[in-house]
Amino acid sequence: MFRHLVATVLAICLSLPSGGAHAVTQAEVTAGAARLYGTRLAALAQAGMLDRDASFLARVARIARRLGEQARRDNPAAPLLSWEIHTSSDPDDSASCMAGGKLLVSQPYVEQLALTDAELAMVLSHEMQHAILLHNLKEYQEAVRRDPRWLAQPFSALEDAVDNDARLMGQLASFNREQEVEADREGLAMAWRAGWRANELAAYFRKVEQASPMSHIGSATHPSPLQRWRAARRQAGALEIGTAGSSATTTKN
Ligand SMILES: [Zn+2]
Repeated sequence: MFRHLVATVLAICLSLPSGGAHAVTQAEVTAGAARLYGTRLAALAQAGMLDRDASFLARVARIARRLGEQARRDNPAAPLLSWEIHTSSDPDDSASCMAGGKLLVSQPYVEQLALTDAELAMVLSHEMQHAILLHNLKEYQEAVRRDPRWLAQPFSALEDAVDNDARLMGQLASFNREQEVEADREGLAMAWRAGWRANELAAYFRKVEQASPMSHIGSATHPSPLQRWRAARRQAGALEIGTAGSSATTTKN
């Protein structure tokens, strides 16, 4: 409450600041995400769709742990994320990661695509990059930059609007699309650094492309499955060449 009052006063006294760092904080975003994650998990539990298969949960957790360790090696100075992972039996879910590292993976989604461990690592690494790169915070900050009047409203209003207000969602679509491209690219690179073969990671995008009836058509916020597969194939090719180069050096030594 006090926080929102301060935001309101600031907005009035400073005649709408330009969307500086004070506008929305990561602490605020992660607290909101934790609340929404809890609500989602409670609804799944009530429907009997939460963590129903212990071996699937263990598989997902093992892969996520390896990726989390890589994220730590990549950037030891970054603030610790409190990773948490659960699985859903909801066929309408796929995979998601909320701010702060709250992951949810749908078992039907993974089974429909018959994902290998590497392909599942690609899914998780993409999702984890959203948290690592603070994509939610940046999205809120972009909304405030476009319309500083959000500062005069409670954060919960902006939090809701980003997911439900068609006008705002339209304004942020291209911004979100860039974040998706970034999560694909950085996710593939991180999982490759964690030890998976780049081509096997990229194969996830081929599966999605092959499973899409109109793979050349993207959405407002995501490039088309065909574009994502082509980008991943190109990136994997470059990484594999790099690997081949370094192993040749090793052999010579
Ligand atoms: Zn994404």
